[in-house]
Amino acid sequence: MRQKIVAGNWKMNKNAGQTQELITELLQNLPQTEAKVIIAPTFVNLAQAVNQTKGTAIEVVAQNMHQAEGGAFTGEISADMLTNIGIKTVILGHSERRAYFHETDALLANKVDTALKHEMKVIFCFGEELKDRQDKQHFNVVEYQLKDALFHLGEDAWKNIILAYEPVWAIGTGETASPEQAQEMHKFIRETILERYGNDVAENVSILYGGSVKPDNAKEIFSQADVDGGLIGGASLKADDFVGIINGI
Ligand code: 13P
Repeated sequence: MRQKIVAGNWKMNKNAGQTQELITELLQNLPQTEAKVIIAPTFVNLAQAVNQTKGTAIEVVAQNMHQAEGGAFTGEISADMLTNIGIKTVILGHSERRAYFHETDALLANKVDTALKHEMKVIFCFGEELKDRQDKQHFNVVEYQLKDALFHLGEDAWKNIILAYEPVWAIGTGETASPEQAQEMHKFIRETILERYGNDVAENVSILYGGSVKPDNAKEIFSQADVDGGLIGGASLKADDFVGIINGI
């Protein structure tokens, strides 16, 4: 059985006090669930979040990291810095990193290698832009994002890879991919992995959907055969909404 996951990407939101408050509220209201529950606060609040969630069902992960081991990279954070404070998973390839910080698939391949070398898990985000879908290039774009950043990996490495399909046109826009559109793409992603790596890898990799998931649409999206949970932005910033989404799994 594939691991179901509901992850909250807090992006550049919540200061230290607000982070503590939201975690407290989540811990008080967290339902019993088969899903793994993940939150990704901003870098400066990771250490306190790890401490606050120790021994609970919530895993704290990072939103990004640098590919180098260390050195003269002003403003950056290394894998060692993250693992040293108890972070075991990192989100890589988010469309906002790609769009605003010019992260390419080649760079992301490097970041993935660094994370895996440090025995971290990776939540790898990818997805087409609106123009790609309008041009009917969305399958092509998604296929190459996957191949260029991840298909150099050996079969074994896939135990530590979680995929997050996030169509850029659905992020923060209130426009969700329909459950059918999500399922169609998730199935395509799994088949692409099947062709390269075989059944075991394809059947075991969790593929999350991200893009305007809310309490009222989560259940229908999560019920699709190849959707194994969600990566949630805006709606993960309120305990009620996030708990409502977890209840949809
Ligand atoms: P929204 O849920 O706000 O659309 O964001 C999705 C996302 O980017 C999660 O990484």
